[in-house]
Amino acid sequence: MGSMGTDEKPHAVCVPYPAQGHITPMLNVAKLLHARGFDVTFVNTEYNHARLVRTRGVAAVAGVPGFRFATIPDGLPPPDEDDVTQDIPSLCRSTKETCLGPFRRLLAQLNDPATGHPPVTCVVSDVVMGFSMPAAKELGLPYVQLWTASAISYIGYRHYRLLISRGLVPLKDISQLTNGYLDTPVEDVPGLRSMRLRDFPSFILTTDPEEYMVKYVIEETERCTGASAIILNSFGDLEGEAVAAMEALGLSKVYTLGPLHLMAREDPPTPRSSISLSLWKEQQECLQWLDGKEAGSVVYVNFGSITVMTNEQLVEFAWGLANSGKEFLWIIRRDLVKGDSAVLPPEFLVETAGRGLLASWCPQKEVLSHPGVGAFLTHSGWNSTVESLSGGVPVISWPFFADQQINCRYQCNEWGVGMEINSNVKREAVSDLITELMDGEKGKEMRRKAEEWRDKVINATKPGGSSHSNIDELVRDVLLANNYS
Ligand code: UDP
Repeated sequence: MGSMGTDEKPHAVCVPYPAQGHITPMLNVAKLLHARGFDVTFVNTEYNHARLVRTRGVAAVAGVPGFRFATIPDGLPPPDEDDVTQDIPSLCRSTKETCLGPFRRLLAQLNDPATGHPPVTCVVSDVVMGFSMPAAKELGLPYVQLWTASAISYIGYRHYRLLISRGLVPLKDISQLTNGYLDTPVEDVPGLRSMRLRDFPSFILTTDPEEYMVKYVIEETERCTGASAIILNSFGDLEGEAVAAMEALGLSKVYTLGPLHLMAREDPPTPRSSISLSLWKEQQECLQWLDGKEAGSVVYVNFGSITVMTNEQLVEFAWGLANSGKEFLWIIRRDLVKGDSAVLPPEFLVETAGRGLLASWCPQKEVLSHPGVGAFLTHSGWNSTVESLSGGVPVISWPFFADQQINCRYQCNEWGVGMEINSNVKREAVSDLITELMDGEKGKEMRRKAEEWRDKVINATKPGGSSHSNIDELVRDVLLANNYS
């Protein structure tokens, strides 16, 4: 198995982790491979497949010639409600424990000559779908992993053991979460700069020495050493130093191919370009609303697909926006408020009538490259981070969990494009930071920096740029290598 006739097309099976921030970058990788002559099978969970059909219709998962969708179960019981973000730790545990069998069977089905398409020649899997590694190896296939977050966050996870061995974690008691202990500087961390304990990916900040997510991310990130190569949605100018530090952690070659949404964009569009796997329906009217706005005048607020908050926090953000006096576009997901639906004070709606647009999901990449947008209030998810750099938009960051804390640290301290809001958010802080970013000197400097990053993004993604050369190299040296070992 694993060898390919000379006239047969290569066939990549792409396995994303089943959350929006992982599906989108994997879809872009799949499109890049399809554009380079690969047959592609894109594997969704049954839950997300059904959700896509409900949200976007059957055409969304019908595929195009040489690009098909397949499914495996995620191992979780159906949730009480449709179309909600699944619980991340439960999803991590169930995919890890239950998906290998169904995935093996899927590969066997795909390799059945009766299907009429070429046999599978390589697997591209999310790092946190590492259960797929043995299935690919049994068939002798090149096995490439996509790390959908930043290189710095990968290094942060890989140094969890270092934090444990230095006795910094687990926390002695929960008072350490609020008494200043998390500001402890953590020096001499290979590959990372000016870190404090609070900047590490958040799962480690626990009092529980048996915390499942800590063990899980240590295992999954260490397992990467068995992959043929690692792909990142990042670019050399941004994270070159961290990429070198990743390779020094025993990984095979690491390829930066980002920003993937720009790499996969096609002009003119092809049938493939129209494939979208957004789990929510985008409200296009957000773009029309922005069209009428002065350049750089609108604050765009969006906390991604997973972040939740209390209604009190929502109300603080609301009054912070209202008191800033600025125009804003605020995306409030149906499940943004924990265990409840979002309730905004009627006085807020009266106060901001005519200068705010509320929506439940938007085409974010287009919003962030719209000239009307001047600032992004974000949770600093990695896709949002890369998309804001691509749009040249500075950020105010309210990191929620996982890698978002370290992304925020680098946005503020290294990349010069961000200011942080305390997790205990207060309306005065929101309005002060908005004013500073939109009208102040610091804001001007951050905007200049953000625009510089946008230029670097353009350089990385144009023909001859680093991300372009890397995809060609990855295809040639890894995915098409017939010396499968
Ligand atoms: N997104 C979108 N519309 C929205 C909110 C989010 O298209 O209204 C997209 C966004 O462009 C990004 C992804 O959803 O590609 C969110 O990923 P990110 O890594 O920023 O955060 P996560 O959702 O994983 O926390």
